[in-house]
Amino acid sequence: MRAGTVFTTHTPVPAGIDRFDRELVARHFGERGELPGVPVEKVLQLGMETYPGGEPNLFNMAVMGLRLAQRANGVSTLHGAVSRGMFAGLWPGFDAEEVPITSVTNGVHAPTWVAPEVFRLGVRQIGTSRAEDALSVGGSQRWDAVADIPDADIWELRRELREQLVLEVRERLRASWRQRGAGAAELGWVDGVLDPDVLTIGFARRVPSYKRLTLMLRDRDRLMELLLHPTRPVQIVVAGKAHPADDGGKRLVQELVRFADDPRVRHRIVFLPDYGMAMAQKLYPGCDVWLNNPLRPLEACGTSGMKAALNGCLNLSVLDGWWDEWFEPDFGWAIPTADGSATDDDRRDELEAGALYELIENRVAPRFYDRGASGLPQRWIEMVRRTLTTLGPKVLAGRMVREYVERLYAPAARAHRSLNADTARELASWKGRVRVSWPHVAVDHVEALEQSAAGGTAELGSTLALRVRVALGELQPDDVEVQAVSGRVDSDDAIADAQTFPLKPAGGPDLEGRWVYEGPLSLDRTGPFGYTVRILPAHPLLAASADLGLVALPTEATGEGAGVLMR
Ligand SMILES: *Cc1c(COP(=O)(O)O)cnc(C)c1O
Repeated sequence: MRAGTVFTTHTPVPAGIDRFDRELVARHFGERGELPGVPVEKVLQLGMETYPGGEPNLFNMAVMGLRLAQRANGVSTLHGAVSRGMFAGLWPGFDAEEVPITSVTNGVHAPTWVAPEVFRLGVRQIGTSRAEDALSVGGSQRWDAVADIPDADIWELRRELREQLVLEVRERLRASWRQRGAGAAELGWVDGVLDPDVLTIGFARRVPSYKRLTLMLRDRDRLMELLLHPTRPVQIVVAGKAHPADDGGKRLVQELVRFADDPRVRHRIVFLPDYGMAMAQKLYPGCDVWLNNPLRPLEACGTSGMKAALNGCLNLSVLDGWWDEWFEPDFGWAIPTADGSATDDDRRDELEAGALYELIENRVAPRFYDRGASGLPQRWIEMVRRTLTTLGPKVLAGRMVREYVERLYAPAARAHRSLNADTARELASWKGRVRVSWPHVAVDHVEALEQSAAGGTAELGSTLALRVRVALGELQPDDVEVQAVSGRVDSDDAIADAQTFPLKPAGGPDLEGRWVYEGPLSLDRTGPFGYTVRILPAHPLLAASADLGLVALPTEATGEGAGVLMR
C-alpha cells in the first residue's frame, strides 16, 4: 500500500496539521478498537514524533502520512522547501534539501472561476471551442489571443465586472443590515456604497491568524487617508468567515466590522460576512487588485489570488505560496516582508503594514489613475493583459493535475503494480536486513589522486581520481550506492548546492571485508570547493535514496581525505 500512496502535506501551522494525544489514539485502536488484529503499538508508531524536537506524547497525522506514503509533496515550491525543513527529523543524516518531499503547485478550476463576461470576450476573440480549450487545457497559444483584444474592450470589461460587484455588495450589505435590525428608511446610504470607477481592492479570508485579516487596520488614520484620497481613492471589499469555535478569529472580524461601520468611510470599505463560493465567484472578477498578506512562509499555496488573476485582477501580495514562485512585476506587486529581520510579531506587522500602505499609495493607485490621451490607464491594461496571457495558463487545475499524474500518481501506480505479495515480502525482508546491517556500514578510507593537473595543486578543469574503501557488514555491493558528494563550501565549511556522483565497485572484499570503490571527480568550479563520500541503501523499488533514512558518512577516524576543502 505504501508504494501506491502519495501524501500531500498542507499549511505548516498547527491548525493545518492534526495532532492527537497518544492516549486518544490508543483508545480507538486498542483492544476491541477499529483495527482488530493490528497491535495498537504498530498504529502508534506510525504517528509518533520520534525525532529531536518532537513531542513524545502526540500522534501527528502528517508524520503518519509521510510514513505511510512512499511519495510526498507540498503545494508550492516554497511550501515544498518549508516542509522538507519541517520534517527533516524523519530522515536523520540528510540535509533538508534531500528530504524526499517534492512539490506540485496548486491550481484552480477555470470553468468555475472565470466570470461569464470574461469568457464571452474570449469567445468573441477566438471562438467557443478554442476558448473552452484554453480554460481546460491551458495551451498558452490559446491564451495569447488575449494580446489582440483592444485596450478599450479590456477596460470596459473591467468596469462592467467592477460595477456588477458594486451592485452585488450593496444588495448583500442591505440584507446584512436588515438582519442586524435596521429598517429600510435608515439604509438610504447603502446606495452610495462603493463607486464603479474607483480602484477596488479585494480581500477575502477564512480567518486563521496567520492570514492577518486586520493587518490593514494597523494604522487606521493612514488607511482612512487612502480610502478618502481626493484624486486617487481606493475602496476595499473584505469578506471573511471565522470558524465558530475560533474566538480570536471572531474578534478580528468584529474589529473590521467596527471600522467599516464608521460613517466617514463606510462608502469605501465594506465587510461581507459568510464568505462562500457563490460570493467568491462575484468577488474575484470585480476587483482590480487582490490583496493577500499572510505571515510568510505560513501560506502553503493560496488559491484566491489565482482565481482573481484568471479574471484579469492584479495581485498585491506577500511573496508567499504560489506568488513567491510566479510573481512578476507585470502581474502585480510584492509586499516586502520582514521575516528574519524583525524581532517580534508586533514589529513585523508594523513594518509590513507600512510597506503595504506605501505600495498602495505610491505604486498601485497612481498606475490605476494614470490616464493617457485615450483616457485609459494603458500601463494597467497591459498588466491585465499580461496576467491573463502569461499567468493564466499556469494557475490552471489542468496544469496541476498533469503534474500530479506525471510526477507522482503514475510512478506510484507503477510501483504499486510491481509489488505483488511476493515482491513486497522480498522488499520488506531486504529493508530488515539493511537496517540490521547498517551499523556495520562505514566509509573507511578516502584517497584522491590528481590526474591531469600539471602542477602540484588542484586546478580548475582538472580531475581527481577518488578511491575509497568501505565496510558493508553483511551487505553486498548490490545493496548500496557509494557516492561522491561535492560542491561549493559555505562559510560554515558545509557543502552547499551539492552534486552527487556514483562511484564504481573496483574490487573486494579484502581480508577485513572491505570493498574498494573508484570514480572521477572533476573540479569544475572556482572558489572554496569540497567533497565527501557517503553510502546509501539502493534498491530498484525505493522511490528516493533517502527513503529509509539511512546514510553512512566518513567519521573523524577516517582521517584525511574524508571531507576535503580546497580554496
Ligand atoms: C478559494 C477560496 C478559498 C481559499 O482561498 P485561499 O487563498 O487558498 O486561502 C476559501 N474560501 C472560498 C470561498 C474560496 O473560493
